[in-house]
Amino acid sequence: MPEPVTVDDAIADRLASVRRRVSAAARAAGREPADVRILLATKTQPAERVLAALAADAAACAAEPALQRVLVGENRVQELVEKGPHVGPAAPAMHLIGPLQSNKVNAALRWATCVETVESLEPAQRLSSRAPRELDVLVQVNVSGEQTKHGVDPADAVDLAMRVASLPSLRLRGFMTIGARSPDDELVRAGYARLRALRDEVLASGAPGTDDALELSMGMSGDLEAAISEGATIVRVGTAVFGARATV
Ligand SMILES: *Cc1c(COP(=O)(O)O)cnc(C)c1O
Repeated sequence: MPEPVTVDDAIADRLASVRRRVSAAARAAGREPADVRILLATKTQPAERVLAALAADAAACAAEPALQRVLVGENRVQELVEKGPHVGPAAPAMHLIGPLQSNKVNAALRWATCVETVESLEPAQRLSSRAPRELDVLVQVNVSGEQTKHGVDPADAVDLAMRVASLPSLRLRGFMTIGARSPDDELVRAGYARLRALRDEVLASGAPGTDDALELSMGMSGDLEAAISEGATIVRVGTAVFGARATV
Protein backbone atom coordinates (compact mmCIF):
# COMPACT_ATOMS: atom_id res chain seq x y z
CA MET A 1 0.00 0.00 0.00
CA PRO A 2 1.98 3.05 -1.17
CA GLU A 3 1.63 6.11 1.03
CA PRO A 4 1.21 9.51 -0.56
CA VAL A 5 4.45 11.38 -0.02
CA THR A 6 4.56 15.14 0.13
CA VAL A 7 7.60 16.70 -1.49
CA ASP A 8 9.46 18.76 1.09
CA ASP A 9 12.19 20.86 -0.49
CA ALA A 10 13.58 22.01 2.85
CA ILE A 11 14.17 18.41 3.96
CA ALA A 12 15.64 17.51 0.56
CA ASP A 13 17.99 20.50 0.67
CA ARG A 14 19.14 19.79 4.20
CA LEU A 15 19.71 16.12 3.43
CA ALA A 16 21.77 17.11 0.38
CA SER A 17 23.79 19.42 2.57
CA VAL A 18 24.42 16.63 5.13
CA ARG A 19 25.57 14.42 2.23
CA ARG A 20 28.05 17.11 1.22
CA ARG A 21 29.36 17.38 4.78
CA VAL A 22 29.75 13.61 5.04
CA SER A 23 31.57 13.41 1.68
CA ALA A 24 33.89 16.29 2.52
CA ALA A 25 34.73 14.82 5.94
CA ALA A 26 35.34 11.37 4.47
CA ARG A 27 37.63 12.73 1.76
CA ALA A 28 39.51 14.89 4.29
CA ALA A 29 40.14 11.70 6.29
CA GLY A 30 41.31 9.81 3.21
CA ARG A 31 38.17 7.67 3.24
CA GLU A 32 35.51 6.90 0.64
CA PRO A 33 32.23 8.82 1.11
CA ALA A 34 30.35 5.58 0.37
CA ASP A 35 31.91 4.02 3.47
CA VAL A 36 29.88 6.29 5.75
CA ARG A 37 26.14 5.63 5.97
CA ILE A 38 23.74 8.33 7.05
CA LEU A 39 21.11 7.27 9.58
CA LEU A 40 18.11 9.57 9.98
CA ALA A 41 17.40 10.01 13.69
CA THR A 42 13.63 10.43 13.40
CA LYS A 43 12.50 10.84 17.01
CA THR A 44 9.39 13.04 17.32
CA GLN A 45 9.10 13.35 13.52
CA PRO A 46 5.75 12.24 12.09
CA ALA A 47 5.79 9.45 9.50
CA GLU A 48 5.05 11.91 6.66
CA ARG A 49 8.26 13.82 7.29
CA VAL A 50 10.30 10.63 7.52
CA LEU A 51 8.74 9.48 4.24
CA ALA A 52 9.53 12.85 2.66
CA ALA A 53 13.18 12.43 3.64
CA LEU A 54 13.24 8.86 2.30
CA ALA A 55 11.68 10.01 -0.98
CA ALA A 56 14.29 12.76 -1.33
CA ASP A 57 16.98 10.20 -0.60
CA ALA A 58 15.61 7.73 -3.14
CA ALA A 59 15.64 10.46 -5.80
CA ALA A 60 19.21 11.50 -4.95
CA CYS A 61 20.41 7.89 -5.04
CA ALA A 62 18.66 7.24 -8.36
CA ALA A 63 20.49 10.25 -9.82
CA GLU A 64 23.84 9.14 -8.41
CA PRO A 65 24.16 5.35 -8.14
CA ALA A 66 27.39 5.50 -6.09
CA LEU A 67 25.39 6.83 -3.13
CA GLN A 68 24.12 4.48 -0.43
CA ARG A 69 20.58 4.84 0.85
CA VAL A 70 20.00 6.35 4.28
CA LEU A 71 18.96 4.23 7.26
CA VAL A 72 16.23 5.12 9.73
CA GLY A 73 16.73 5.14 13.51
CA GLU A 74 14.09 5.45 16.21
CA ASN A 75 14.77 6.06 19.90
CA ARG A 76 11.58 4.67 21.29
CA VAL A 77 10.04 1.30 20.63
CA GLN A 78 6.67 3.05 20.81
CA GLU A 79 7.60 5.24 17.83
CA LEU A 80 8.96 2.24 15.95
CA VAL A 81 5.61 0.50 16.41
CA GLU A 82 3.59 3.57 15.42
CA LYS A 83 5.62 4.55 12.37
CA GLY A 84 6.80 1.08 11.34
CA PRO A 85 3.80 0.21 9.15
CA HIS A 86 4.19 3.49 7.22
CA VAL A 87 7.95 3.97 7.17
CA GLY A 88 9.12 0.33 7.23
CA PRO A 89 8.22 -0.48 3.61
CA ALA A 90 10.10 2.62 2.33
CA ALA A 91 13.15 2.35 4.62
CA PRO A 92 16.20 0.28 3.63
CA ALA A 93 16.66 -0.55 7.33
CA MET A 94 15.24 0.49 10.70
CA HIS A 95 17.52 0.70 13.69
CA LEU A 96 16.66 1.08 17.35
CA ILE A 97 18.98 3.79 18.72
CA GLY A 98 17.38 4.32 22.13
CA PRO A 99 17.38 2.16 25.26
CA LEU A 100 15.55 -1.15 25.03
CA GLN A 101 13.31 -1.94 28.00
CA SER A 102 12.90 -5.64 28.64
CA ASN A 103 9.10 -5.53 28.28
CA LYS A 104 9.45 -4.08 24.75
CA VAL A 105 11.65 -6.76 23.22
CA ASN A 106 8.94 -8.37 21.10
CA ALA A 107 7.70 -5.02 19.78
CA ALA A 108 11.25 -3.99 18.93
CA LEU A 109 11.86 -7.25 17.10
CA ARG A 110 8.79 -6.64 14.97
CA TRP A 111 10.32 -3.54 13.32
CA ALA A 112 14.01 -3.19 14.08
CA THR A 113 16.50 -4.72 11.67
CA CYS A 114 19.31 -3.65 13.99
CA VAL A 115 19.41 -2.85 17.71
CA GLU A 116 22.25 -0.38 18.27
CA THR A 117 21.79 -0.14 22.02
CA VAL A 118 22.91 -3.43 23.58
CA GLU A 119 24.57 -2.36 26.83
CA SER A 120 24.28 -5.47 29.01
CA LEU A 121 24.04 -9.21 28.58
CA GLU A 122 20.55 -9.98 29.82
CA PRO A 123 18.55 -7.98 27.24
CA ALA A 124 20.84 -9.39 24.56
CA GLN A 125 20.03 -12.91 25.70
CA ARG A 126 16.35 -12.06 25.61
CA LEU A 127 16.68 -10.65 22.09
CA SER A 128 18.54 -13.75 20.97
CA SER A 129 16.02 -16.16 22.39
CA ARG A 130 13.04 -14.35 20.89
CA ALA A 131 14.43 -13.22 17.54
CA PRO A 132 12.53 -14.92 14.72
CA ARG A 133 15.59 -14.56 12.48
CA GLU A 134 19.17 -13.36 12.85
CA LEU A 135 19.25 -9.84 14.25
CA ASP A 136 22.05 -7.31 13.78
CA VAL A 137 23.19 -5.63 16.99
CA LEU A 138 25.71 -3.03 18.06
CA VAL A 139 27.13 -2.77 21.57
CA GLN A 140 26.60 0.72 22.98
CA VAL A 141 29.59 2.07 24.90
CA ASN A 142 29.62 5.11 27.17
CA VAL A 143 32.92 6.58 26.00
CA SER A 144 32.36 9.96 27.66
CA GLY A 145 31.65 8.51 31.10
CA GLU A 146 28.86 11.09 31.55
CA GLN A 147 26.48 9.70 34.18
CA THR A 148 23.38 10.50 32.16
CA LYS A 149 24.52 8.51 29.15
CA HIS A 150 23.66 4.93 28.39
CA GLY A 151 26.19 2.34 27.35
CA VAL A 152 28.56 -0.18 28.87
CA ASP A 153 31.70 1.11 30.58
CA PRO A 154 34.61 1.01 28.10
CA ALA A 155 36.51 -1.29 30.48
CA ASP A 156 33.77 -3.91 30.14
CA ALA A 157 32.96 -3.41 26.47
CA VAL A 158 35.24 -6.04 24.94
CA ASP A 159 34.00 -8.74 27.29
CA LEU A 160 30.36 -7.84 26.65
CA ALA A 161 30.90 -7.75 22.88
CA MET A 162 32.41 -11.24 22.90
CA ARG A 163 29.54 -12.64 24.93
CA VAL A 164 26.97 -10.98 22.67
CA ALA A 165 28.78 -12.26 19.58
CA SER A 166 28.46 -15.81 20.84
CA LEU A 167 24.66 -15.67 21.22
CA PRO A 168 22.97 -17.82 18.59
CA SER A 169 20.51 -15.40 16.95
CA LEU A 170 22.51 -12.19 17.19
CA ARG A 171 25.03 -10.95 14.68
CA LEU A 172 27.46 -8.50 16.27
CA ARG A 173 27.96 -5.76 13.68
CA GLY A 174 29.99 -3.30 15.73
CA PHE A 175 29.71 -0.51 18.27
CA MET A 176 27.70 2.62 18.95
CA THR A 177 28.27 5.62 21.17
CA ILE A 178 26.83 9.02 21.95
CA GLY A 179 29.74 11.43 21.99
CA ALA A 180 30.72 13.74 24.80
CA ARG A 181 28.61 16.84 24.98
CA SER A 182 31.44 19.32 24.99
CA PRO A 183 32.78 22.22 22.96
CA ASP A 184 36.23 20.64 23.37
CA ASP A 185 36.83 19.00 20.00
CA GLU A 186 39.81 17.03 21.30
CA LEU A 187 37.74 15.48 24.07
CA VAL A 188 34.98 14.50 21.65
CA ARG A 189 37.48 12.97 19.26
CA ALA A 190 39.24 11.05 22.01
CA GLY A 191 35.93 9.36 22.83
CA TYR A 192 35.41 8.36 19.22
CA ALA A 193 38.99 7.12 18.95
CA ARG A 194 38.33 5.02 22.05
CA LEU A 195 35.34 3.36 20.39
CA ARG A 196 37.42 2.59 17.31
CA ALA A 197 40.17 1.07 19.46
CA LEU A 198 37.61 -1.15 21.22
CA ARG A 199 36.28 -2.31 17.86
CA ASP A 200 39.78 -3.05 16.62
CA GLU A 201 40.53 -5.03 19.76
CA VAL A 202 37.41 -7.15 19.30
CA LEU A 203 38.14 -7.71 15.60
CA ALA A 204 41.73 -8.68 16.35
CA SER A 205 40.62 -11.15 19.04
CA GLY A 206 39.32 -13.57 16.46
CA ALA A 207 36.66 -14.59 19.01
CA PRO A 208 33.69 -16.51 17.55
CA GLY A 209 31.11 -14.27 15.91
CA THR A 210 33.25 -11.13 15.91
CA ASP A 211 34.30 -11.10 12.23
CA ASP A 212 31.48 -8.76 11.19
CA ALA A 213 31.90 -6.26 14.03
CA LEU A 214 33.07 -3.51 11.68
CA GLU A 215 30.54 -0.75 12.26
CA LEU A 216 31.13 2.39 14.30
CA SER A 217 27.87 4.30 14.80
CA MET A 218 29.05 7.66 16.13
CA GLY A 219 28.59 11.33 15.37
CA MET A 220 25.45 13.47 15.15
CA SER A 221 24.42 16.74 13.47
CA GLY A 222 26.90 18.81 15.45
CA ASP A 223 30.00 16.63 15.36
CA LEU A 224 29.79 14.24 12.43
CA GLU A 225 33.07 15.54 10.97
CA ALA A 226 35.00 14.59 14.12
CA ALA A 227 33.37 11.15 14.16
CA ILE A 228 34.12 10.50 10.49
CA SER A 229 37.73 11.49 10.94
CA GLU A 230 37.93 8.87 13.73
CA GLY A 231 36.38 6.16 11.58
CA ALA A 232 32.57 6.42 11.88
CA THR A 233 30.76 4.12 9.45
CA ILE A 234 27.29 5.34 10.47
CA VAL A 235 26.47 8.92 11.46
CA ARG A 236 23.10 9.53 13.13
CA VAL A 237 21.57 12.80 12.02
CA GLY A 238 18.36 14.42 13.23
CA THR A 239 18.22 18.20 13.42
CA ALA A 240 20.53 18.78 10.44
CA VAL A 241 17.91 17.08 8.25
CA PHE A 242 14.60 17.75 10.00
CA GLY A 243 15.31 21.08 11.71
CA ALA A 244 15.07 21.75 15.43
CA ARG A 245 12.90 19.45 17.52
CA ALA A 246 10.12 21.00 19.59
CA THR A 247 10.51 18.40 22.35
CA VAL A 248 12.30 15.11 22.79
C1 LIG B 1 18.56 12.46 18.55
C2 LIG B 1 19.67 11.51 18.38
C3 LIG B 1 20.61 11.66 17.37
C4 LIG B 1 20.63 12.84 16.41
O1 LIG B 1 20.88 14.02 17.08
P1 LIG B 1 20.94 15.41 16.28
O2 LIG B 1 21.78 16.26 17.11
O3 LIG B 1 19.53 15.86 16.15
O4 LIG B 1 21.53 15.11 14.96
C5 LIG B 1 21.60 10.69 17.25
N1 LIG B 1 21.66 9.62 18.07
C6 LIG B 1 20.77 9.44 19.05
C7 LIG B 1 20.88 8.26 19.92
C8 LIG B 1 19.75 10.37 19.24
O5 LIG B 1 18.88 10.19 20.24
